Amino acid sequence: MLKTHNCGGLRAAHVGQEITLAGWVNRWRDHGGLAFLDLRDRSGIVQVVSDPDAAPGAHAVARQARSEFVLQVRGVVRRRPDGLTNPDMPTGEIEVVARQVEILNPAKTPPFYVYDDSPVDEALRLKYRYLDLRRQRMQRNLILRHRVVKYIRDFLAARDFVEIETPILFKTTPEGARDYLVPSRVHPGEFYALPQSPQQLKQLLMVAGFERYFQIARCFRDEDQRGDRQPEFTQLDLEMSFVEREDVIALAEALLTGVIEDCCERELLLKPFPRLTYAEALRRFGSDRPDMRFGMELVDISDLVAESGFGIFSKTVEGGGQVRGIRAPGCGSYSRRQIDELTELAQREGAKGLAWMAVGEGGEVRSSFAKFLAGEEIAAIIERMEAEPGDLLLFVAAAAPVVNAVLNGLRLELGERLGLRDANVLACCWVVDFPLFEWNEEERRWDPSHHLFTAPMPEDLPLLDTDPGAARGQQYDFVCNGVETGGGSIRIHQREVQEKVFELIGLDAAVARERFGHMLEAFEYGTPPHGGIAPGIDRLVMFLAGEPNIREVIAFPKTQQAADLMAGAPSPVEPEQLEELHIQIVDE
Ligand code: ASP
Repeated sequence: MLKTHNCGGLRAAHVGQEITLAGWVNRWRDHGGLAFLDLRDRSGIVQVVSDPDAAPGAHAVARQARSEFVLQVRGVVRRRPDGLTNPDMPTGEIEVVARQVEILNPAKTPPFYVYDDSPVDEALRLKYRYLDLRRQRMQRNLILRHRVVKYIRDFLAARDFVEIETPILFKTTPEGARDYLVPSRVHPGEFYALPQSPQQLKQLLMVAGFERYFQIARCFRDEDQRGDRQPEFTQLDLEMSFVEREDVIALAEALLTGVIEDCCERELLLKPFPRLTYAEALRRFGSDRPDMRFGMELVDISDLVAESGFGIFSKTVEGGGQVRGIRAPGCGSYSRRQIDELTELAQREGAKGLAWMAVGEGGEVRSSFAKFLAGEEIAAIIERMEAEPGDLLLFVAAAAPVVNAVLNGLRLELGERLGLRDANVLACCWVVDFPLFEWNEEERRWDPSHHLFTAPMPEDLPLLDTDPGAARGQQYDFVCNGVETGGGSIRIHQREVQEKVFELIGLDAAVARERFGHMLEAFEYGTPPHGGIAPGIDRLVMFLAGEPNIREVIAFPKTQQAADLMAGAPSPVEPEQLEELHIQIVDE
């Protein structure tokens, strides 16, 4: 080794020892007489002093060093003089007096400061990702990620899971996105598809008798890059045989609780994780991925206003819609402008308008609609909403899906404004009993709401023939801080049921056989009942790290436009390569 010690590990106990360090110059100061270098390696930073009188050779080299030069320093650890210790630095009690300094490699002036985490334009960070990764924040995040994955591996290995790799060059494995395709040179005109998840392969591993499988799996989905997504991402993919829904949820909850408590300091608010049905999640939060860090639940007042003199309310209820609201504590003093802002947000989510009522400190009411209501109607609303003086009540009258979307949007916005969405707090929940299908109006067919292989609830099986929209799936979603962070299900393991689902989603029998014939066939060779789940590693680590997006916990992420700015990918290729692949580029 070119070094005997790590910079960040030196303490008062090392005083007097002669050591060799190697690392990067974090910062340097030349005081004319003495030169000070902060030397950094992965473990941390230590101060190196060079003295022209004591070691002229070392000093001459040290004086040439600039930020990010790579140095080797031989020297002696000494206690810092009184008054010069730095309690903010783990190594702040000591310094290293240089005896010999060698420049292992000089460095150009970096395009941004590496020595601190001051904000830098993200495009620049991604272009020089190797420098960005040198910074403390990214070092911390990637080391955290390593610990999380290690925890997961140990946890599962201790419970008899076997880690098995599955191919990247495979066949379409749909999870609702477009496939990435890889042309085959050997088979002209044919393509591999990169797996959107190892879903089929893990099910086949259950057919193969492994009983408990996991993999830290890379998944590829060619989606429009809305929101916080990456074209390739990592999930903990796992599958178990001879289990029911409860078994998978219990195992995943123990694992996730363990990871959170072991790998970060953030407060885990709700233990055990609350379990909500899909219908309950929509009713209480307007969303199937509720942010459980705060309350502000949706309240139905339809019955109170059905007969009221406010036409928008009464007509909506009469027409089968609903009137629901939320209570924003302490927002009763909002100005017209602030309320207009919320109204615009409501309109963006699909509402025609926003009805509001502010309860003053003395109980007096300011409102966009109260003048159309009788006194007792107003009192009943205040009571139902549990409004206190100083609160703002917001109401939406529309069809249920619109009310859900709008109030969910308002709830999240107000939660943000009121500081209730604290990244230091983690609140997880399970959402279960999803509908098995969603109606696709454009294509006039059913889409699987999870994926094609999710089993219906046993008691809902007959509904596949009579009322597919009412059938619930044996699916479960893991939600953390309002973000879907993993999902899984008990799978279909009988060929007839699988064929029935293919039929409902409009997969012609011949196409189904061509795409998934291997699954259907496997189901005829003794398939155990099985199920699994796949929590997203990127998202999980993002929450543990308290980061706002997954790019901060991925070493080499792509931009929202699916580009790698460092290497410049994607990029054109040589004409010969295309020729070998039998591919022609067609200019639009
Ligand atoms: N394959 C699913 C997904 O990627 C997870 C699962 O059902 O286990 O979302």
